[in-house]
Amino acid sequence: MDLQYNLITCGCGHSFGSTKMTKNYCTKCGSSTNIKTIQHFDNAGELSSAVSLANIPKEISKELVEKIKQKEMKQKSFSMKKSSDPFNILKMATDKNGDLNKNSLDKKLTDEGLLEITSEYLIGQAEMQGLLVRVNQNTWNWLS
Ligand SMILES: [Zn+2]
Repeated sequence: MDLQYNLITCGCGHSFGSTKMTKNYCTKCGSSTNIKTIQHFDNAGELSSAVSLANIPKEISKELVEKIKQKEMKQKSFSMKKSSDPFNILKMATDKNGDLNKNSLDKKLTDEGLLEITSEYLIGQAEMQGLLVRVNQNTWNWLS
């Protein structure tokens, strides 16, 4: 009688090979009730590659899903920061007369939750780009 090489899968998600004609036990969780034979092979080589295929892709795909999730989260937070244009905040903090007050910019930054950006930094950047000019200690005007 020829040996039969069986690919067996367990309810726990583990797959393993068996040549036994007797009752099988999951080699991972030990269950004998949750298992079922899903495929028969003619030789041990075919069975062993089927077993590794049955087990490895799940691990890899789990890892991949995690990586993709993390990547998506990073991209999301990045694009959120990008969409709130810092110079837009400067414009929003500017009053009707075109005066930008440092205190109102501080308030805007807090309102927008942009706690990692300081008003000094933003104003400094805008000054360097020639967008703002200081008119007194706490006030800037737009040049463009
Ligand atoms: Zn199991």
